[in-house]
Amino acid sequence: MPQLRQDLVTGRWVAIATERAKRPSSFSRSAVVSVQPSAQCPFCLGRESMTPPEVMAYRQPETQPNTPGWELRVVPNLFPAFGPANQEPVQSHVGPYLTMTGVGVHEVLISSPEHQQDIAELSLVQVEKIVRAYVDRYNAHRENPAIQYLLIINNHGKEAGASLEHPHSQLFGIPMVPPNVQEELEGVRRYHVEKGRCVYCDILATEQKTGERVIAENDHFLVYAPFASRTPFEASILPKWHASHFEAMTDDQRKSFARALKELTARLYRGLNDPPFNFYIHTAPNHSGADLDYHWHLEVLPKLAIAAGFELGSGIMINVVTPESAAEFLRNVDISAAPTAAASPALH
Ligand SMILES: [Zn+2]
Ligand SMILES: [Zn+2]
Ligand SMILES: [Zn+2]
Repeated sequence: MPQLRQDLVTGRWVAIATERAKRPSSFSRSAVVSVQPSAQCPFCLGRESMTPPEVMAYRQPETQPNTPGWELRVVPNLFPAFGPANQEPVQSHVGPYLTMTGVGVHEVLISSPEHQQDIAELSLVQVEKIVRAYVDRYNAHRENPAIQYLLIINNHGKEAGASLEHPHSQLFGIPMVPPNVQEELEGVRRYHVEKGRCVYCDILATEQKTGERVIAENDHFLVYAPFASRTPFEASILPKWHASHFEAMTDDQRKSFARALKELTARLYRGLNDPPFNFYIHTAPNHSGADLDYHWHLEVLPKLAIAAGFELGSGIMINVVTPESAAEFLRNVDISAAPTAAASPALH
């Protein structure tokens, strides 16, 4: 019989439809063919003039902005969804309807000069730079009174909405706290009132104790498949200490986070042959105090199922792979050898 599971934080339900279950390995894809040659890519070395001028870059010494010599580059999005950020949002009414000006920021963080290598394949040193850039951009916008929330997202693969192949992340600074985060903040409050404890710390303790949904672990982070996973191979990276603000990490914690992120994406890359996925970082709202009761985390949702009529109509996702078998599968992927895209076998 299918099992309904409730997310401990948000209270949302998912259906784990074991009758429809496929073996985890059946989600592996055949190797993806590159659709966009690097010759036309605006994010490749030497094409700096094809993007708006950079707002930040990690560069080799004595190289000029907007020229080659960069290791990681941040530019405003050419077609921003939000902006500019130098004014307060203004609300107004259209009949009974409420509107607000879409002030904010929309930036692109180009992961490295490599056109094809994403986090799973880049060196740990480069992944640490990506994480450092996330923190630097959070800090760059943290004081802006117009921005209520900073959201870092990453779309990997065309099916996950990546419009350019060259690996990059995006930062959105928006004039409201998004509903998904609002829901988690309320969940944390509700759980605290009922149990007197932090819900994320309880999840951490439960997952470490049972171990059946653990994918990987290092000194500062637990990587696990959530009990109420919405899609096959959904995963979260959760700090092992009670921390509300992503950008408050120490150097040491930041390096551990880069290791956890690289390991998780490498396990997905190797185990499922480079699946499309989205990840995002949920952290405390801008301008919230360090004492806010929350736990920042990263969520990864592989794009291996489509939200269709039932999911859209009900808000209840049907997941055909149990989180326990997904975690076991990812835990057992061999990531010791250096990954090579062309040679990675298609598992069926
Ligand atoms: Zn490129
Ligand atoms: Zn906690
Ligand atoms: Zn979340």
